[in-house]
Amino acid sequence: MSTTLQSWIAGRWIGKEAAAPLHSALNNALIYYTHAEAIDFDEALSYARKTGVPALMRLTFQQRAARLKALAQYLMGRKEELYAISHQTGATRADSWIDIEGGAGTLFAYASMGSRELPSSNVLHEGPAMALGKNGGFAGTHILVPRGGVAVHINAFNFPIWGLLEKFAPCFLAAMPCIGKPATATSYLTEALVRIINESGLLPEGALQLVIGSTGDLLDRLGGHDAVTFTGSADTAAKLRANRHLIANSVPFTSEADSLNCAILAPDVTPDDAEFDLFVKEVAREMTAKAGQKCTAIRRIIVPENMVDAVGTRLRERLAKVSVGDPSVEGVRMGALASRDQQRDVAERVEQLARGNEVLYSARDGFQPVGEGVSEGAFFAPTLLLCRDGMRNDAVHDIEAFGPVSTMISYNGIDEALALAARGKGSLVSTLVTREPAIAAYAVPVAAASHGRVLVLDKEASVDSTGHGSPLPQLKHGGPGRAGGGEELGGIRAVRHFLQRAAVQGSPTMLAAVTGEYVRGAAVQEGDVHPFRKYFEDLKIGDSLLTHRRTVSEADIVNFGGVSGDYFYMHFDEVAARDTQFGQRIAHGYFVLSAAAGLFVSPAPGPVLANYGLDNLRFITPVAIGDTIRARLTCKRKVDRNRTDDKGVGQGVVAWDVQITNQRDELVASYDILTLVMKRT
Ligand code: NDP
Repeated sequence: MSTTLQSWIAGRWIGKEAAAPLHSALNNALIYYTHAEAIDFDEALSYARKTGVPALMRLTFQQRAARLKALAQYLMGRKEELYAISHQTGATRADSWIDIEGGAGTLFAYASMGSRELPSSNVLHEGPAMALGKNGGFAGTHILVPRGGVAVHINAFNFPIWGLLEKFAPCFLAAMPCIGKPATATSYLTEALVRIINESGLLPEGALQLVIGSTGDLLDRLGGHDAVTFTGSADTAAKLRANRHLIANSVPFTSEADSLNCAILAPDVTPDDAEFDLFVKEVAREMTAKAGQKCTAIRRIIVPENMVDAVGTRLRERLAKVSVGDPSVEGVRMGALASRDQQRDVAERVEQLARGNEVLYSARDGFQPVGEGVSEGAFFAPTLLLCRDGMRNDAVHDIEAFGPVSTMISYNGIDEALALAARGKGSLVSTLVTREPAIAAYAVPVAAASHGRVLVLDKEASVDSTGHGSPLPQLKHGGPGRAGGGEELGGIRAVRHFLQRAAVQGSPTMLAAVTGEYVRGAAVQEGDVHPFRKYFEDLKIGDSLLTHRRTVSEADIVNFGGVSGDYFYMHFDEVAARDTQFGQRIAHGYFVLSAAAGLFVSPAPGPVLANYGLDNLRFITPVAIGDTIRARLTCKRKVDRNRTDDKGVGQGVVAWDVQITNQRDELVASYDILTLVMKRT
C-alpha cells in the first residue's frame, strides 16, 4: 500500500490527498505519493520568524551545539529505520551509510566544533580589536550575530538525509530556522528523517520545517535576513539565482551544482607502483559508489598517453567484477539510479559522450542486474569511455552523465593534464595521484584555482585517505564556476556563512561590553579577592590583578639555563650577545613567562583546576639583567560548555589576558592563558 507523504509546516503535518506518484528505484513499484494540498508559505515563514527565531535565540551557541550532539546520538539509535527505507532509492548498504551515518556524523562534527570554538552567548567576536586612534580611547573590531532570518535549503535527490543535515547543522548553530525542500524523487526518505527528528523532541519549536513538492512562492517571500542554499543541476541553479526578488532583496544564494570532477595520474607513476593501483581503485570506486550519483564523482580520468592501455585494462577488469542489482541480494555492490527519469537522462548523455569517443566498457559487456523485478528498475551499467583528443573535444568537459559513467582522457605532459582539468570550468574536487612531492608542489596550486578541494594521493596517504568523493565537515565543500561558486562545510566557516558580520567601533570599554571579551584598554575591576580564587560564576570579564615587581638578575638566567638546559649564546655569551641587535645578554623568553606565572599565581588549591595552554604568545621587548618586570592578569573570556568532571563538579573555560611590562612600562610579553575553572554549583 502506498502512502501520501506530508509536509511539516508551522508545527503540523500537512497532506492527505495524493498527488504525484513516486516509484521504487529497484522495480518501479509505486511506493508513495506527494500531497496535493498547497502549502501556505506565508504561514511557514512567519512561524519560522515568530516562533523559530526566538526559540533558537533563547539558547546560546554552546547550548545549540549540545542539542546537535544529542540529536546525532538519537538518530544513530534509530538509523535502521532509515536504512530500511533508503534501499528503495536504489542505494546499497554502503551507499546508505554515506547518507545516513554520514549525516549523523556531520551533526556530531558540528556539535564538537561548536563546543570547542563558539562562545556561550549569541555574539561571536571576530577579534582581535584594533586601536583606531593615538590616545587608546577608540578601537574597532568585528562581531558575528544571528541574522534573525530563515534558511531555505533546496536539495538534490542523491543524498536525502546528508543533504539536509549538512546544511541544517551549521544553520542550527547560527540560530537560523530551516525550511528543507528535498528533491521530490527521494523525498520519502527525508520525510522519514524529519518525523524521527520531531519525535526526538530535541529541537526548539520552529527550528525545522519540511516541504514535500514544490516551493511555490516561497523564494518570492524572502528578505535580506534570510538565505537560500541550493544543491542540484547547474541549470536549476542558474534559474533560481536569477530570481528577481532574491536579487532585489540581496538574499544570499549559495549554490553547489554538478561538476566534471577529475582524477589525474601524474607522469611519474608506472604500473609497477602502488600508486597505480590506488588510482585505478579510486576511479572504479567513484564510478560505482551510489551508482555514480555523487556530485563529487570522478567524471574525467586524465592519464598520460602511454598509460591509456594499462589503465583501461585494469579499470575494465575491476568494473567487470562489480555485481549490480537489488542491494538486498548478497554480493551486490552497485544499486540503481534514483529513478527511471534519471536512467533515461544518463542514457541520453552517454549517447552524446560516445559521439567521437571510444566506449571501453558498457552494458554490452554482459550487464545483468540481479534481483526480483529489476528489469523494471532504474539500473545502469558502469560505462567507461575514452577520449584521445581532450583539448579539442568539448563534450567530455561539459556533459555530466549523473551515473556510473566516466571518460578517460589522454594527455601529454603535466601542463596539458592541468589544462584539461581546468576545462571543466570549475569543479568540486580533483585528485592527483603521484609519488613526487615536486609534482604535487607544481600541480596543486594550479588545480586549486579551479577546484574546491584537491586530494593528493600516494601510498602514505592511502592508509587513512577518506577518498576523493567524500566531503568532510572540517573541510570546505563547493567549487568555483560550473560547480556553483558556493562554499559549504569547512568547519566553523559554514556557521559564519549563516551569521551576519558587523564592524563595531567605540571605546575599549564599550567594545568589551558588546563582545563579552576583555579588550586591551578597557576598564578593569581590581578587588581584594585574587581572580584565581573566584569560582566560574563569580568571575567577571575585566576582573584583574596587577602583580608586585621582580628584578631579573644574572643568577636568574644562570639558574634557568641550568634547569632547562638552554645555554643559547644570547643568554650566556657576553661577547657574542654584544654583536646582536640587543647589544647585551638577555633573559630567556621562557624564563620571563615562568617568572610572570610566579608573580600572578595564587598557589593554594582553589577553583582554578588546570592551565591547558597559551594562545597568541609574543615576546615584544627583551628583558636584560637588571630590568624589573610585573604582570597584569585580566579575565578575558568565559565559555560555559556545561561540562562536569568525573566527580560531577561543574567547570568552565576561562581565558586570561596577560601583559608583562618592564620598569619603563613597555610591553615585554603578551599572551592568553587558557584555564579550567570550577563552578560553585
Ligand atoms: P534539479 O536541479 O532539477 O533539482 C534540484 C532541486 O531543485 C530539487 O529539490 C528540485 O525539486 C528543486 N527545483 C527544481 N526546480 C526548482 C524551482 N523552479 N524552484 C525551486 N526548486 C526547484 O536536479 P535533479 O535533482 O533533478 O537532478 C538533475 C541533474 O542535476 C542530475 O542529473 C545531475 O546532473 C545534477 N545533480 C547534481 C548534484 C550535485 O550534488 N551537484 C546532485 C544531484 C543532481 P524537485 O525534485 O521537486 O524538482
